[in-house]
Formats: sequence, structure tokens, C-alpha cells
Amino acid sequence: MMSDGIVLTPRDGASWRFDPGALFLEFLLTGGPDDLAVWDRLHEPADLRDWVGASRLALAGGDVTADDADLEPARGLRDALWRATRAAIAGTPAGETDRATIELAAAAAPLAPTWDGWRTPAAASAVLSTVARDGLAVLAGPAAARIRECAADDCRLVFLDTSRPGARRWCSMQRCGNRHKVRDHRSRHLEEQ
Ligand SMILES: [Zn+2]
Repeated sequence: MMSDGIVLTPRDGASWRFDPGALFLEFLLTGGPDDLAVWDRLHEPADLRDWVGASRLALAGGDVTADDADLEPARGLRDALWRATRAAIAGTPAGETDRATIELAAAAAPLAPTWDGWRTPAAASAVLSTVARDGLAVLAGPAAARIRECAADDCRLVFLDTSRPGARRWCSMQRCGNRHKVRDHRSRHLEEQ
């Protein structure tokens, strides 16, 4: 039912597929609170449907009913998940308000699974509930210690390290991992001269 990753198109070039390892982390790619507000991509109901269609939920955006009233709860949940995720990375507990916001979204009926996907049409609140439940399953448990920010200085992508050894450092080996390897090689080469 799940496929991995979401396609990102940076301003500087080619699209690439980023797998943050969890559905709720894919939702964080729609923007965020404070300094991340400039990246906000949830301006109208169609934006929420577009995210659903691009996410690891195998659900077409057109199968989701969303209207203007869904945007505020969607952004509120996303921002609460962001702060709770940053708290997890810092090894501190999530704030009371954010915990309550995530729990409230999770209390709504989630997407209903079927033999080959999800029951449709699905309400936006069901999508948000499924995202919130996914977030709770990670953030409220031992997996929270596996949430990391990409080790590249200029990359702020956050992922859940689902690898067995737990040694994932990069958003993507092909992207930041390789840039680091090239730089590392260059600096070692300079030292040898
Ligand atoms: Zn990165």
C-alpha cells in the first residue's frame, strides 16, 4: 500500500526522490512554523490534495474531499508535528500544546483500508488523522531516537533512520552523501600536497 518517498524539485535544479522513512515526515515537506513558513505550500484545498497524491499514501489527490476549512487544521497539525520532531531530535519532550494538537487530529476517523488501497472518497480529516497516528507511532515510542536531520550543513531535511544498523546520515546518499564524499576526498587530497 505504501511506496517510498516523495519527489522534490529544488530551485537549483533537477527533481529527485527523497524517502524520509515515514508518512508524517513527508507531510513536513509542505512547510512549517517560524522560519519554515516561507516554504508553506498549503494555500488552498488543491494543495492538500496534491500532497496526498505525491505522498507514500497510494491515494489519488482527486479521491480526497478537501475544502478551505481543512487548511487551518492541516497547517496546525503539520506545525505541531514539526516542533515535536525537532524536540525528538533534541532529545527533549514535545510541548503540551503540540501533543494535544496531534492527539486531536489522531482522534478523528483515519483512512479506511480496503483490499487494494483506501476507501474513497476520503475526507481530509481522515488523511490528517492517518498522518497524526503515523507521527504518534514514531514520536511517542522508541523510534523517536531514530529521527535525524541530514548531516550536511546546508541541508535541513529530516528523516527516520529505518536502516538496521541505524547509521543513516544523509537525506540521500546520491545527493548530500556524494557531495560530502567529494568534498572529503578533495580536502584529503589537499592535505597530501
Ligand atoms: Zn541532505
